[in-house]
Amino acid sequence: MRRILILFVDGVGLGSDDADTNPFVAANLPNITTLMSGRKLVSNQQAFSYNNFSFVPVDACMGVDGMPQSATGQASIMTGVNVPAYIGKHWGPKPSEEIRSLLQSDNILKVICGNNHSVRLANAYPPSFLQQLYSGRRLLSSIQFAFQTTGARFCNIEDLRGGHALAADFTGEGLQSHLGFADIPILSLDAAGKRLASLAQETDLLLFDCWQTDVVGHRGTMSTAIDTVERLDAVVGGILVSWCETDGLIVIVSDHGNLEDKTTRRHTRNKVPVLLFGDGHSSVANAINDLSDIAPALIKYLG
Ligand SMILES: [Zn+2]
Repeated sequence: MRRILILFVDGVGLGSDDADTNPFVAANLPNITTLMSGRKLVSNQQAFSYNNFSFVPVDACMGVDGMPQSATGQASIMTGVNVPAYIGKHWGPKPSEEIRSLLQSDNILKVICGNNHSVRLANAYPPSFLQQLYSGRRLLSSIQFAFQTTGARFCNIEDLRGGHALAADFTGEGLQSHLGFADIPILSLDAAGKRLASLAQETDLLLFDCWQTDVVGHRGTMSTAIDTVERLDAVVGGILVSWCETDGLIVIVSDHGNLEDKTTRRHTRNKVPVLLFGDGHSSVANAINDLSDIAPALIKYLG
């Protein structure tokens, strides 16, 4: 049975090999470094496949001037269309009417559901988000909007309590400290990764949307950025330790650069990493050059 787990990390590009400015070089990343066979997540790293893993640097600019943005980048990942070229510019953070209508007419999640496969967004959303969503006061990101087009429901705090979803920060600490959910069970980062791997076995495509990486790229210090990247690495470790190659394909992907360059608080035009682990990794890797190649490659993989 072919399955896909997508760990989407917003605003993560391939930056310079400089520990003073690139948190991916400064941080201690044992799990990602093992995946990469000791190589670094930097701009001069070429694509490679080794054992059960492939790395591909992916073009997020897609022939369009200006800084890549989340709405067009995510919509390109979801639709397989070069959305910046289609609308004539990079756009974000939230999708315009034109981008929403592209997502509505076709996206990878709809295609998978239409083929009698199942999709799930693993994020648990707090009541404030869901109330704003249902009252129409909340603009969804392109990924959330694509998910909504399938008719599936967003996970909530009860799903999180039941072990069926994950908090935005992976552990649930933010829900306790900022949103007043004192009784939320806190997960370790390792346990959060293991939960993602296990939830991925219950559906054909499971997606987790990690948006905090972009927020830290915009607002965080270098030390917060290093901490964020090390937390991500620990989650990846939890996923990998519980993932057999035959369990399916893990895809780690981003929409545009940002966090990898702490000399700026803006997005970058750097390529973004696509990390593929498990069943079918190299054939999917070989089909990907820019963000719009991801959806067709994954649809073909699922068959
Ligand atoms: Zn951003």
